[in-house]
Amino acid sequence: MLNSIRLVRWERLIPFQQSYTSVAQVAYVLDALANLQGSTYGQHVRERLTQLTGLQNILLTPSATHALELAFWQLSPEDEVILPAYNFPSAPCAVLRGGGKVVLCDIDSATQNIDPVDCERRITANTKAICLTHYAGVSCDMDAFLALTQRYHLYLVEDAAHGIGAFFRDRPLGTLGDFGCLSFHVTKNISCGEGGAYLQSTDPDSFGKMVMRCDHGTDRNRFMTGQVDYYAWQTQGTRMALSELSAALLLAQLEELETITARRKTLCGQYDFHLTPLFKAGLLYPMTVPEYAGSNGHIYYVRCVSKAQREWLQGGLAAQGILAQTHFVPLHLGSMGRTLGYRRGAFPHSERTGDTLLRMPLFVGLSNDSIEVVCKAVKDILL
Ligand SMILES: *Cc1c(COP(=O)(O)O)cnc(C)c1O
Repeated sequence: MLNSIRLVRWERLIPFQQSYTSVAQVAYVLDALANLQGSTYGQHVRERLTQLTGLQNILLTPSATHALELAFWQLSPEDEVILPAYNFPSAPCAVLRGGGKVVLCDIDSATQNIDPVDCERRITANTKAICLTHYAGVSCDMDAFLALTQRYHLYLVEDAAHGIGAFFRDRPLGTLGDFGCLSFHVTKNISCGEGGAYLQSTDPDSFGKMVMRCDHGTDRNRFMTGQVDYYAWQTQGTRMALSELSAALLLAQLEELETITARRKTLCGQYDFHLTPLFKAGLLYPMTVPEYAGSNGHIYYVRCVSKAQREWLQGGLAAQGILAQTHFVPLHLGSMGRTLGYRRGAFPHSERTGDTLLRMPLFVGLSNDSIEVVCKAVKDILL
C-alpha cells in the first residue's frame, strides 16, 4: 500500500511512526508468563474496554480483520455490503469470506469518510449492510448513517480500526452500529503488536453464538463459567483469541489511553498551527474535523493540490530525513478491484485522495521541536 521513498541525505532522521512503550508492559508480560494458564489479562482488557465503550459484548481477536470476519460470518450470495472505495482491504475481504458481495461507493472529499449521499444511491433490494471506516479516527456522519440504516432496514458495521479513544459526539466509535471492530496493530494508537476487538451493540442472543464460534464451535465458555458440566461441539466455528501475553501488553497501553490520546491530539494541533499559512495560501488542504467528531489524533494528514506536488513534497522531506507517507490505494484500483468489475474513474474523490493525501510523522515520542523541523521543511519545499 506504500510507495517507496528514497532517502538522499539527512542530518537527523524523523521516523514516520514509533511504537509506544508503556510503563507497566514488561511487568505485566512477565507476570503473565509466570502463570500462563491462570492468566487473566484478557479478562482485564475486556473489562477495560467495557468501561470505555459501555458494551458488554466484546471479544478479543487476533486482529481487527478477524473481528470483521465475525461480523460478516455468514452472508447469502446475493447479500450486498456497501463500503467506501478509499479504504483498507480488511472489510471487503471479510465480506467476501462471509460469502457476500462487495459494493463500493465514494468518499466525502473533506473528511475522506464514506459519503452518505453516494452510499444511498447504491442501496438496492439486496443491500444487507453498510460498513463504514472512521478514517484517521475522525467520525463518519453517524446521524446520516443511522438514519439510512433505519430507513432501509440495514445492518451498520463500523471499522473503527483507527478509532480507539475517538467519539461521535459523546459516543465512542465502534459502538454506534450493530457491530464494530478495533485494531491493536503496532501502527495504531494503542497496540500489542497484533490484536483486535469485536464489539456488538445489539442482539445479545446472537452474541452467545459468536462466543461459541470463537471457541472452536463449542460451549466451552458456559463450561468455564459453571453453567454446564461438560462442553461439546455446538456450531460451526473456529479459534479466534488474543494470547494472554498480548493481552498483558495491551492492558498496559490501555491504562495510558488518555495520556496517549491527549499527546497525539496536541501534536496534531501543533501541525495545524504551523501549517496554517500554507492552508491559507492554498498550497495545501487541511484536515477537516466536523463538529460532531471527537478525534483521537490517530493520523495527521494534509492533502496536496496534485499528485505531482505530493511527490515533490514527500521526496523533499525524505531528502531531509523526514518520513511522510501516503496511505490507501483505493480498493478499486488494485487487481482485486478490477476483478470485481470496477475501473479507474469510478470513484473520483477516492482516487483524488489516494493521489494527494500525505501523512506526517506522528507518534507519542515525537518532540515539539521535531514538529517545527517538519513544518519548516514543508514550508521551504512549497513556498
Ligand atoms: C489497520 C486497519 C485494519 C486492519 O487492522 P488489523 O488489526 O491489522 O486487522 C482495518 N481497517 C483499517 C481502516 C485499518 O487502518
